[in-house]
Parts: sequence; C-alpha cells; structure tokens
Amino acid sequence: MRFPFRLGRLFGIPVEVRASFLLMLAAVLLFMGGLGGILVVLLVFASIVAHELGHSLVARKLGVEVSAIELHFFGGVARLQSQPRSARGELAIAAAGPAVSFALSALAFVMAALSHWWFFELLATINLVLGIFNLIPALPMDGGRILRALLVPRLGFARATEVSVGVSRVASVLFAVVGLAFLQLQLILLAGVLWFMASAELRMARHGYAGSVPSSSGWSRPEWGPPGWGTSYGPPRAPPRSRIVVVRVDD
Ligand SMILES: [Zn+2]
Repeated sequence: MRFPFRLGRLFGIPVEVRASFLLMLAAVLLFMGGLGGILVVLLVFASIVAHELGHSLVARKLGVEVSAIELHFFGGVARLQSQPRSARGELAIAAAGPAVSFALSALAFVMAALSHWWFFELLATINLVLGIFNLIPALPMDGGRILRALLVPRLGFARATEVSVGVSRVASVLFAVVGLAFLQLQLILLAGVLWFMASAELRMARHGYAGSVPSSSGWSRPEWGPPGWGTSYGPPRAPPRSRIVVVRVDD
C-alpha cells in the first residue's frame, strides 16, 4: 500500500488517504473499540469528506482547480492548485466546508428527532463539532481564512495575514496549554502543526507573491498580495473627506 493511497474519485476529484489518517483511525478504534468504534470512524471519515467536498466544489465553481481531497491525522484538506482570484473567492471557499458540516448536522438532528435513532444523533454531533472546530479563527483553518478575507479590504493582504497569523499563534499556545493540562496528545500536536503552518502562511504572504504587483517599498504595501486580490477588494482607499454639516443652534 502506497501513500497517499487513492480511495477513488468524487465528482471527478481524487480522494486520497495519508498514512497519518490511518493512525488517527487506529487511535479512535483503540479508545472506542469494537463495532461502535468502526462506525464512529466511518462517520467521521464520511463527514470530513463531505466537508472537504464543500470547499472543493465551490473552489471549482470559482475557477480554482482541486488536485485532491486528502485525509490526514487532523482531518482533511482540499488541495487547491492556485489561490482564489479574490478575497471574496477565498471567503466563499473557506465558508463552504463548515456550511456543509452545519447543514448535515441540522439535517441529522431533524432525522434524530423524527426517528429517535442514536445513529443520527451521532452523525449530527460529529458534523456540529467539525463545523465549529474549523471556524476557530486560526490561519490556515477555515476560520482563519475567513478572518483574513474579511480583513483584506481594511488592511490589505499582507497585514491581514499578519493579524490572522497572530490570532493563530495565540490559539496554538492555548491548544498547547489545554493539551498539556488534560494530557490530550492530539491537541498538543495540533498546536505545533498550527504554529508551523501559520508561519508558512506568513512566509508565503511575505515572499510568495513577490512580483505579482509592482512594489518598490516592501511587502507590506497594502496592494501587495496574490494576483487579482486587489481587483475585487482593492487596497484600502483614503477615507472620503468628511462632509459634516454642522447645524448650529443659537439661542
Ligand atoms: Zn474546512
């Protein structure tokens, strides 16, 4: 078995499994055990694929090719071949994953209420946790991407990335502290990976787009960013001159 191992294709997008994903499944099986464990594993797996499919289909609709959906230790990732053409595009792609998770969760809760079947309750809970967890505003998680896309119009790409990476580092430290306090190995590992990946995002923001926009005064110029991000959002404009009409009321 070679990794990444290709499971198949969904909507033409390859779904691949990394060796570390099997490690996560093994850990879940170990703690849950038996048939119940296998069912939880399958549900988590299906829910993550649905979440990543949400990202992927919106990305493809916006003209960003998806090379694969990859499943790994911390969940999944939709591998995009290029940056979205605008901050608005990134916002839509980032929000699509949690939107799918919340929609599935809501549907499963309704089914659980109607059928009183624990299976739907479990499915609803898994997807709810998946949606909420991904909205933690720490780059490069979905929440962090959403935060950056929202900050770009005010701060420009580079500064927005810096702020989002700052939030990400605070989250990393919190995860590490909580992980150490409750001896949660996955949380401690996640803290490390988050810190590392946020730093990579920062490096990319500083150096990765060099030359995309003519700039003479350094990377932190507000218009500096991936090609096209300036066209829909634009660099922050000078505030309009205030037109304050002072109405003086004299006695
Ligand atoms: Zn996601």
